[in-house]
Amino acid sequence: MEHASQSRLQEQLREVTLSNCTLEAEIDQLKRGTQGLTRSEQHLQLMASHIDEAFWLVSPDERELYYVSPAYVAIVGHSCDSLYADPASWIESLHPDDRQTVLAEQGGRGAGPHRDSRDHEYRVVHEDGSVHHVWIRSVPVFSDDGSLVARAVVALDVTERKTAEDELRSAALHDKLTTLPNRALLTERLTDAIQRSKQEPGYKFAVLFLDFDRFKIINDSLGHEVGDLLLISIAQRLTANLRRNDRATRFQEGHLPARLGGDEFVIVLDGIRDLSDATAVAERLQVALSAPHAIGGHDVISTASIGIVTSAGEYDRAEDILRDADTAMYHAKNTGKARHVVFDERMHQDAVDQLNLEEELRRAVGKEQFRLDYQPIVELSTGRLTGFEALIRWEHPERGDVPPLEFIGLAEEIGLIVPMGTWVLAEAASQIKLWHDRYPQDPPLEMNINLSRRQLTHSDIVETVSRIIRDTGVDASTLKLEVTESTLMKSPERMTGLLEELKGLGVHLCMDDFGTGYSSLSCLHHFPIDVLKIDRTFILNTDENREYAAVIHAIITLAHTLKMSVVSEGVETGGQVAQLQALECDAAQGNYFAAAMTATAAEAYIQRPQGFAKSA
Ligand code: C2E
Ligand code: MG
Ligand code: MG
Repeated sequence: MEHASQSRLQEQLREVTLSNCTLEAEIDQLKRGTQGLTRSEQHLQLMASHIDEAFWLVSPDERELYYVSPAYVAIVGHSCDSLYADPASWIESLHPDDRQTVLAEQGGRGAGPHRDSRDHEYRVVHEDGSVHHVWIRSVPVFSDDGSLVARAVVALDVTERKTAEDELRSAALHDKLTTLPNRALLTERLTDAIQRSKQEPGYKFAVLFLDFDRFKIINDSLGHEVGDLLLISIAQRLTANLRRNDRATRFQEGHLPARLGGDEFVIVLDGIRDLSDATAVAERLQVALSAPHAIGGHDVISTASIGIVTSAGEYDRAEDILRDADTAMYHAKNTGKARHVVFDERMHQDAVDQLNLEEELRRAVGKEQFRLDYQPIVELSTGRLTGFEALIRWEHPERGDVPPLEFIGLAEEIGLIVPMGTWVLAEAASQIKLWHDRYPQDPPLEMNINLSRRQLTHSDIVETVSRIIRDTGVDASTLKLEVTESTLMKSPERMTGLLEELKGLGVHLCMDDFGTGYSSLSCLHHFPIDVLKIDRTFILNTDENREYAAVIHAIITLAHTLKMSVVSEGVETGGQVAQLQALECDAAQGNYFAAAMTATAAEAYIQRPQGFAKSA
């Protein structure tokens, strides 16, 4: 609801409350005026003319109407005459659904006059058919000797307040954009469904959690207005497809999807027979949702990834079902999108493990639980050590060293990679500077440092690298920044600009894991790259597979044409070394020479005699 209309409603509510207070004062006045009541109609009418509100005065047994004000007659639309003739007939002006309740609240017609004040709220139906909400206060009127002589009833038409309250409630339970139920209403429904599944054996329900693939890209590229229209269109499609009378699953009419926020929607499938009913609906929705949406001259396509949970999991809380459905949806997204995945308990355990790891990782950054290991890189023509690749290790207090593949992805996902990567850069740069000072050689030792995608896209990497070069005093040309092929290929143009800027600082650049990122050789010349690192999977296969050798040969030849040098990763055998030498590969790195080692061990390695002839 718009802010303006919300505050208008609140204003109305305030007014009604204020007039409630006025009413209290008027009731007092009425009570005072009727002390020692005379049944003079004239006197009463005179008194009533001072009160604007609807009110009436009846005998204690409510059989005789002494007076009814024109304001009340206006609310119900009956003539005064009919009310005077039969005061009990007022009950007929009540909404049929409210009659019983009002009578019960009054303590029953036959219970005799009561001596206390009473408040009621009910609906009356005007002669013209309109329904009004009326609040009444009925107070006893006593004579000087304390006997009950009448009841004075004051009524207030609270229809506006009621409507305002209903509107506020509806606004609080519905999504403004799509008008679908929101999280609050969904939670109510889910809680009801959970209750019911506990009470009624055989009653089952399922929850479908939908998230739209590529929604963010659409929003970012076509604008938020198109994004909003897409969400409305999605809501309509979901609604249309769920409303369809589904005999197989006996869905209740009106079980609309809810929008949780963003591009997340949830559907509660009420009264399913088994899981296959839920997967059938998911499949049907996926088909319906995969057709393009015609929006603002675009054909917008956004498929849905769907997570499914059934009530078989014996849940107690709505939020737990939503959490598991979300987890299953996440799996659907991560395993190819535009599909559905049914939740199983292992996913929950994985998610918990992941969350624990995430917490530990956040703490680890503060506690400096990281270390860099260094793996030698060796020139293949001579066997000379040219430098190292810095590889991060997490020194976990209980689990020991955790390899980077187990936490780099997570660190990237939660943004921790940026501070972590900055630390790696600074640490590796000062380490190589130290080794330059201690072990000067010509050309000087180099340091390869891995950069992750997020470091390039979500931090001022150029500024960071430049500051570190300044602070450590390292020779920039000995730093080799490694960027994986897949990072480059995700946004080649943007990356090229960034790499050019980095090169402007004097550092060298490597394309890491070449051969795994689906770039074609023809793309290579677009990037300002100095070194190509051929991925380990190619090297592994060269021993037994001649085709791989041919591919490597092609890569090396092209790289050399483009003035790039080539390093082979993961070299493990003397046979591979010989083959790579024959293919004129420039350098290699792998367990054949040495695995990654601590800084102390690397320092000892530097001091070893260098070259193939001597070390063989
Ligand atoms: P990478 O950059 O391709 O590093 C080479 C990986 O291959 C290292 O794994 C290394 O230990 C391993 N390796 C080297 N020689 C051999 C061998 O002969 N046989 C086998 N089987 N493996 C070998 P590690 O240290 O587990 O690192 C894995 C990946 O984690 C790295 O792959 C890199 O992508 C990433 N990584 C490591 N440190 C950092 C870092 O500081 N920042 C970022 N962003 N990523 C890092
Ligand atoms: Mg690397
Ligand atoms: Mg690599």
